[in-house]
Amino acid sequence: MQTDLKSMNIEEMTAFLGELGEPSFRGKQIFRWLHRGVTSFEEMSDLSKGLRERLSQSCFITAPTVERKQVSKLDGTIKYLWHLRDGNCVETVLMRYHHGNTVCISSQVGCRMGCAFCASTIGGKVRDLTPAEMLDQVLFTQIDSGFPISNIVLMGIGEPLDNMDTVLRFLELVNSPEGLNIGMRHISLSTCGLVEQIDKLAQLRLQLTLSVSLHAPDDETRSKLMPVNRSVGVEKLFACCKRYFETTGRRISYEYSMIDGVNDHDWQADLLVRHLKGTPGHVNLIPLNEVAESPFKPSRRIREFQQRLEEQGITVTVRRRLGGDIDASCGQLRRKRMEENKND
Ligand code: SAH
Repeated sequence: MQTDLKSMNIEEMTAFLGELGEPSFRGKQIFRWLHRGVTSFEEMSDLSKGLRERLSQSCFITAPTVERKQVSKLDGTIKYLWHLRDGNCVETVLMRYHHGNTVCISSQVGCRMGCAFCASTIGGKVRDLTPAEMLDQVLFTQIDSGFPISNIVLMGIGEPLDNMDTVLRFLELVNSPEGLNIGMRHISLSTCGLVEQIDKLAQLRLQLTLSVSLHAPDDETRSKLMPVNRSVGVEKLFACCKRYFETTGRRISYEYSMIDGVNDHDWQADLLVRHLKGTPGHVNLIPLNEVAESPFKPSRRIREFQQRLEEQGITVTVRRRLGGDIDASCGQLRRKRMEENKND
């Protein structure tokens, strides 16, 4: 078994190199190379030839290749389908905003959460990604596109808190001053609402933004849309969000994808307001992206719903639709490729 060097932090790398009889600065040296995106030990020009050879025998460097790349003509959004070492694929989206370039990255190959409107969960979870595979999405998107990345959102394929140890390691890596050095305040993590893991995350008091995918304020609708709700329920979820805010002092952002006739009624706006009272938070309304396999249609009441929330004192934003011409909502490109493979 070869060692996945890029998933290690500096301490582990230093210890690993120490076992090979190398001085302690080697760990940091190799960490820096890997986080610049080198794909072979050959490129590490300040290591001896002997060490480079030993490393290439015992270790591997992950380096996804571009399976598909789509560039939006409308707004410059770029969507990558990456081919991983084992042949699996994941998606990454690069979005270009005035305040900088944001990547939306995946945390798992597929997803086991089963949300009824989401393309990523069709076919279930294949496997968790490794820290290196998460980092690579940022690194190689930056290298391939030539655009420096300033912000990261964990809103791609997968449930980040269902792969929590990996995600925490990824955050440590991407945050490292010896690596990409992206500040926690420039990172958002989106979850379907796994309360135990949210409580654990709170204890770490990270400065990142937590987004909770709510999508409905009542148990009947939310359980229909999101199976995860059947065991937790909206009351418990909001109680957990309140604890998160009290522990971290960070406001939660609630994602709410607007679905025609399902979650866009006035009474649901009013119920949402009642839940949010006492827990400062902000609501992000998302126009539903139509998924071929799902019966749901985008809501035609986004403005009215927004207004109703705002009139009652809630801060609301409506997500701008980027990459509308390139299937930019996550999971769709991977789905398409799987379908094509089936027909081959
Ligand atoms: N598993 C995480 C992150 C992945 S998805 C989570 O559930 O939060 C990122 C966001 O996009 C989530 O809020 C998700 O519910 C939403 N989403 C998924 N499919 C969508 C679709 N077809 N249209 C609009 N939003 C969608």
